[in-house]
Amino acid sequence: MAAFYTYRCGEPVVPGERVKNMSHPIIERLRIPGPTPVPPAVMAAMDRGMIPHRGPAFKELYREILRMAREAHRTDGEVLTWPASGSAGWEAGIVNLLSPGDVVLAVTTGYFGERFAHVGEAFGLDVRRLRVPWGEAATPDQVASELESIPGIRAVFLSHNETSTGVTNPLRELAAVAQQFGALTLVDAVSSAGGLPLEMDAWELDYVFSGSQKAWMCPPGLMIAAIGPRAWDAMNSSRYSRFFWDFKSARDAAKMGMTSSTPSLTLLYAYDAALRLILAEGVETVWERHRSIGERTRQGVRALGLVPLATDDISSNTVTAVRCPDGVGATALVDAVREVGGIEIATGQAHLAEIIVRIGHMGWVQWPDIERTLATIGEVLPALMVPVDPVDLSQSVAPQR
Ligand SMILES: *Cc1c(COP(=O)(O)O)cnc(C)c1O
Repeated sequence: MAAFYTYRCGEPVVPGERVKNMSHPIIERLRIPGPTPVPPAVMAAMDRGMIPHRGPAFKELYREILRMAREAHRTDGEVLTWPASGSAGWEAGIVNLLSPGDVVLAVTTGYFGERFAHVGEAFGLDVRRLRVPWGEAATPDQVASELESIPGIRAVFLSHNETSTGVTNPLRELAAVAQQFGALTLVDAVSSAGGLPLEMDAWELDYVFSGSQKAWMCPPGLMIAAIGPRAWDAMNSSRYSRFFWDFKSARDAAKMGMTSSTPSLTLLYAYDAALRLILAEGVETVWERHRSIGERTRQGVRALGLVPLATDDISSNTVTAVRCPDGVGATALVDAVREVGGIEIATGQAHLAEIIVRIGHMGWVQWPDIERTLATIGEVLPALMVPVDPVDLSQSVAPQR
């Protein structure tokens, strides 16, 4: 492979920049699990002036965005957007679909699952947790046996892809169990929507939210939510106060091609361009590209003598978590990869902060990007693993007075 670096992570992108005869024009060096690289076509789309957000040009743009977003979420139902980061999705789901004191089961498989549970507690829900060890996925049996012992369950909080551990939960199966118990499914799909197979309608999910800066390959700042039919019913009986996140006013505005408050126009220009890229490639082709890159990443990790945190059957195809070799801290490895290759990878989070590094491969990613990242990790590791010679005290000389 001829390695071409037309720019380094963080350097300005020249829209439409191409290197001659290269199937992949740019080796992208931002390999954290979000924000992710923004393709030149999406960068270029943002270079556009403001328009009236109640005018015909906006209405046409927003209607088209929502049509494409429905296609990407595999739903005929509602998809809505808000100016916000992904975290807003937890709160928006809770205040629209639930009521104070409701009993919910939070299935936590890592840092983000814990955050979801925490937001539920902050809003006064009766949150029960199914805590799965970090690096493992939740199983339908675990969820079923937990739900059997919780009468009056109202909702199950699920993280589709646990970004902190590089684990993808079996969303379809977990959601099916929740439905058997009559519980709504609130799904954090922040690092999966747009990259991993996700079927809003076929899997009968109730609420699925994500953020623009992950697999959607846009800058941060747009929260996207798909809302199913049962969720609309639930909304009618919710007793939370809400204004900015109100699903009904967002839906009413969307019916007229608008948003309930001023939208982040620049991000919608970006999301429009990104959705066009995704649909032009084909939603399933995008999923397949992620699957193939995920698999090759894990193979490449093993070829370096390293071990992925998760087993292959539950490994994420948008982010790979890799155990650091004994004696090597994650921050030291991340710093060395930055220094030597100009490539940004991420440490772990919480108690895994120094134990693992995470390589993001979602959104705008091709294999050469990851190949280069892995090669750099292989290049810097030997120096980090230099064994420290034991101190030979017999050789030490007392300082002269
Ligand atoms: C990144 C992420 C979030 C938080 O999104 P922000 O945009 O940082 O607020 C939540 N859940 C998951 C699974 C994520 O990967």
